[in-house]
Amino acid sequence: MSKLKSEIRKAYFLNKYVIITPGRERRPRDIKDEEVVKKSGQCPFCPENLDKKRIIDKLGQAGGKTGKVVCVKNLYPAVTLDNPRAYGTQEVIIETLDHQKEMADLSEKQIELILKMFARRTVALEKIKNINYILCFKNQGPKSGASLDHAHSQVLATKIAPENLKEEARAMMEYRAKNKTCPYCDIIKKETRSPRKIWENKTAACFAPYASEYHYEAWIFPKRHLDNIADLKKKNSNRSPKS
Ligand SMILES: [Zn+2]
Ligand SMILES: [Zn+2]
Repeated sequence: MSKLKSEIRKAYFLNKYVIITPGRERRPRDIKDEEVVKKSGQCPFCPENLDKKRIIDKLGQAGGKTGKVVCVKNLYPAVTLDNPRAYGTQEVIIETLDHQKEMADLSEKQIELILKMFARRTVALEKIKNINYILCFKNQGPKSGASLDHAHSQVLATKIAPENLKEEARAMMEYRAKNKTCPYCDIIKKETRSPRKIWENKTAACFAPYASEYHYEAWIFPKRHLDNIADLKKKNSNRSPKS
């Protein structure tokens, strides 16, 4: 019997529970993780191979070739604007020109450009008719579903918003009506004084949520009450937590 006891925790204001199971870390494993194959040659995101016709937007100067952060059409989109049965759009943000670098290797300036691109694409995509949901996300490594090695993230825009988000919005309104405060502002206040705090400065806070669903899960919030990445000001986006 493990001395590390499991604990059932409820998510802050959602009707959702997780079982925190520290004892399970010690269980035997027969399955090995998949590995990313470092290959050289034809990477479609490297500047010399990038099809310029795919470029939607770019930021930063890079000798006239492309920008330092480039937004391109996804060649294998899950959703498209000409498909009413899977309506939406999916774009790829190439985070650096350098094939060898991970996001953690990038300068603060470069990460600021990536956040700026997220905001710009959000503003552009929310203007498209019937787009009700926009998600900027990054899969890093094979376990997350990433299929290419070159550092990139994605922007997905769809007509249908996920049910769990609608549920979260409903729970948030209930919380606001009951407590007359914003649940996220309350969570930030509480967690910046808890042992789960990872990092904070004047404008942003980062912590592990009380009811984490994943190992090493971390939430980053601007301290200002914002609900859209497009409202981030320079002073919010250029002070991101260092790894
Ligand atoms: Zn590459
Ligand atoms: Zn708030």
